[in-house]
Amino acid sequence: MCGIFGIYGHQEAANMAYLGLHSLQHRGQESSGIVSSDGKSLHSEIHMGLVADIFSQERLDKLSGHIAIGHNRYSTTGASLLKNAQPVVVDYSRGALALAHNGNLVNASYIRSELEAYGSIFRSTMDTEVIVHLIAQSREDSLLNKIVDALSRVRGAYSLLIMTEDELIGIRDPYGFRPLCLGRLKDSYVLASETCAFDLIEASFEREIEPGEIVFINSKGIQTYKPFPVFKKSYCIFEFIYFARPDSNIFGENVNFIRQELGRQLAIESKIDADIVVPVPDSGVPAALGFSQEAKIPFEMGFIRSHYVGRTFIEPQQAIRHFGVKLKLNPVKKVIEGKRVVVIDDSIVRGTTSRKIVKMLRDVGAKEVHVRISSPPTTYPCFYGIDTPTRKELIAATHTIEETCKYLTADSLSYLSIEGMLNILKDRRDDFCTACFSGVYPVEFDGIEVMQLELF
Ligand code: AMP
Repeated sequence: MCGIFGIYGHQEAANMAYLGLHSLQHRGQESSGIVSSDGKSLHSEIHMGLVADIFSQERLDKLSGHIAIGHNRYSTTGASLLKNAQPVVVDYSRGALALAHNGNLVNASYIRSELEAYGSIFRSTMDTEVIVHLIAQSREDSLLNKIVDALSRVRGAYSLLIMTEDELIGIRDPYGFRPLCLGRLKDSYVLASETCAFDLIEASFEREIEPGEIVFINSKGIQTYKPFPVFKKSYCIFEFIYFARPDSNIFGENVNFIRQELGRQLAIESKIDADIVVPVPDSGVPAALGFSQEAKIPFEMGFIRSHYVGRTFIEPQQAIRHFGVKLKLNPVKKVIEGKRVVVIDDSIVRGTTSRKIVKMLRDVGAKEVHVRISSPPTTYPCFYGIDTPTRKELIAATHTIEETCKYLTADSLSYLSIEGMLNILKDRRDDFCTACFSGVYPVEFDGIEVMQLELF
């Protein structure tokens, strides 16, 4: 989780980055930063909080220059502290360098220990800083070769933006876990995690950066390199299910369309006689529409969502999360009372949200509550950048579907099958990472990482 945005060749680069980050706010809400370059030096504003709160006009005015990169952080490795906020900015033998990372490295602790043993001093606990050290220490001549040298030592998920005084570099790991899109805004080039960032600034979508591709954007235009061996594509399926914004197009598909298809498939797999289909807003809305259309059961907005609360899951403390669901959603009694309700959400992690949802529906008089989930049971943690808790906290890893249904106090519970989910992707089904559902991890991780992350 994290959103990244970069722009080259725009007079108001920092303002554009601000808008881009605003539309990528859903990818991370802990901290946000923009670093700009005027061709001679880098300027940075990196703070804790939300994009709209952080970047006053005064702060944006300090970010002069025609190049900028920005980052919204949601921590997966490293605590939620300002020192762990990005972009990372350093001075090394060749000048200044800023780096923004979306994804998670699986061998960062191992490399970090090695680097520290040779005297490297780290200023944060982020896995991303490892990449910076490796680039700075590389004996290769050109920046391209230094980057390739550094990245050939790390494993895991990374979509990266690097900025020097005079160029912008975009990189996607050879598996392509996280998205990275290339756009144009008149003479400027734009790179962003998702295309919704292009829509806001009226940039056109050109293409996605390919897995294993590095693009250099500078006064000569754009140059592309493919220095890494080709691996099996492993696009994160959870970006489709939950994480990306429905108006974005990533991995060659529209996210909203895929979510509706997941809902349709769910309706086919788990038929139910009911009066209304109700989404858990916002994450369940597209799937509920698809379900409703396929099952021919009317769609109703049975919950109203407060728009002034962030994603409940993102709150770091369990106590706040429990409260958060109620803070965020309120059922509409008139819609629900006396009805047999099918309630749709995209996923169940710990079961906290769904249990509250069922209770809220019953409290306003639902006759029956049938929970339908538009993804398979989440049974394994993600090591590639989606924030998931340890296995023992994942309800689907420790409980059968019947036990979970009982815990939720629902009349029935069904998930989408892995097969059904993959069928939607047709001939591209093998291009996706399904580790959180299947336990099949495309990139091996080291025991030390697992221990550090305390994920198993
Ligand atoms: P839980 O209450 O722990 O079962 O969390 C499930 C809710 O969190 C669902 O409504 C999902 O939309 C949402 N969710 C699922 N995965 C994540 C994630 N990695 N980060 C934030 N929210 C999530």
